[in-house]
Amino acid sequence: MMRKISVLGSTGSIGTQTLDVVRSHPGEFQITALSFGRNADVGLKQIHEFHPAIVCVQSKAIADSIRQQLPLGTKLVYGEDGLIEVAVHEQSELLVNAVMGSIGLKPTIAAIESGKDIAIANKETLVMAGQIVTELAEKSGTELIPVDSEHSAIYQCLHGNVDSEVQRLIITASGGSFRNRTREELVGVTVEDALKHPNWQMGAKITIDSATMMNKGLEVIEARWLFDIAYEKIDVILHKESIIHSMVEYIDGSVLAHLGTPDMRVPIQYALSKPERLDLPGGKRLNLLEIGSLHFEQLDTDRFRCLALAYEAGKTGGTAPAVLNAANEVAVAAFLQGEISFLKIDELVEEALTAHQTVQSPSLEEIIAADEETREKVRSYLK
Ligand code: NDP
Ligand code: MG
Repeated sequence: MMRKISVLGSTGSIGTQTLDVVRSHPGEFQITALSFGRNADVGLKQIHEFHPAIVCVQSKAIADSIRQQLPLGTKLVYGEDGLIEVAVHEQSELLVNAVMGSIGLKPTIAAIESGKDIAIANKETLVMAGQIVTELAEKSGTELIPVDSEHSAIYQCLHGNVDSEVQRLIITASGGSFRNRTREELVGVTVEDALKHPNWQMGAKITIDSATMMNKGLEVIEARWLFDIAYEKIDVILHKESIIHSMVEYIDGSVLAHLGTPDMRVPIQYALSKPERLDLPGGKRLNLLEIGSLHFEQLDTDRFRCLALAYEAGKTGGTAPAVLNAANEVAVAAFLQGEISFLKIDELVEEALTAHQTVQSPSLEEIIAADEETREKVRSYLK
């Protein structure tokens, strides 16, 4: 049976790989709705290949620029309301949320409320509002299926929900572009250097997050909510080969790990096909003999300040993780624009967290308000 899918962020790194997976398995999946931001060249090709019933772009200007080039009958929408329309499209059964950043929150909530399962790559949503999102999903009986490779690995090693048999989750970290440098050696690094990730090809924001280790911090918070587990039971270790994607340790000392070559199509495809597995055309097989050995090291949280900040914000709870995320989004965008240095990113995040009065058990509105206030505050620090 064809699985009908909506994709948010179709032109991005996860989005294009999602469409690769769909393309590789004719007859398995159908793209009923898709959204992208500004990349009309790639977006239009996708529309003509997959014929979604509805398309959303970032703004009215972009919508006007492509309207004449759409196949007959394709509905065109834009902006945040448009994203929500794509997310809840009546024909689709599953939403792949692969937009970058907090813009993914409202469409996720709308999709859950309309009873869709969600393959969630957009970790910022779970960081901002993990409690609200997971409670809503439970109430409406929809599933949040991890796409992030670490969480997909844990999901596969858990065989279901976390229970009293789980001792801890062990999330692996590649260490990002600067894993061999000391903090002193990070003074003056360029955007170009930061964008060179040793193991993964990803969007710009997450590549910077990997270099600061904020990505791991966001992933710890993501794991807390996806698997309903305490922060005390989530550990992070450095594993530079990115072959073990994460592990689950059980109370009897058994550790289950998920291994594979670094290829995001594997977790994306599993999120679409589970519990079945499909072959992966062009996928590189893991050859352990070729790799020879795997390495593990303790992470230094003085060096990787963002990881410590994320644990702190996560444990504080309430609006703190939303503040962490918003400050980080603004700081990373400023770094990518050449406005601030690399080491300024964690300083800005820390400053925003210190200045914030946490609201416990926040409503969605309070979370969004904390997000917006933080963005303004961090932008004012930049001036
Ligand atoms: P990219 O930057 O490559 O892609 C982002 C996508 O979102 C693009 O299609 C972009 O459109 C669209 N988009 C961005 N801003 C807006 C907006 N305001 N309105 C509408 N659309 C928008 O990101 P990635 O694919 O790397 O990451 C997506 C998410 O997945 C992130 O949350 C990331 O943390 C997570 N993730 C990514 C991994 C990876 O390997 N890349 C691994 C694990 C998680 P356009 O380009 O057309 O403007
Ligand atoms: Mg990851």
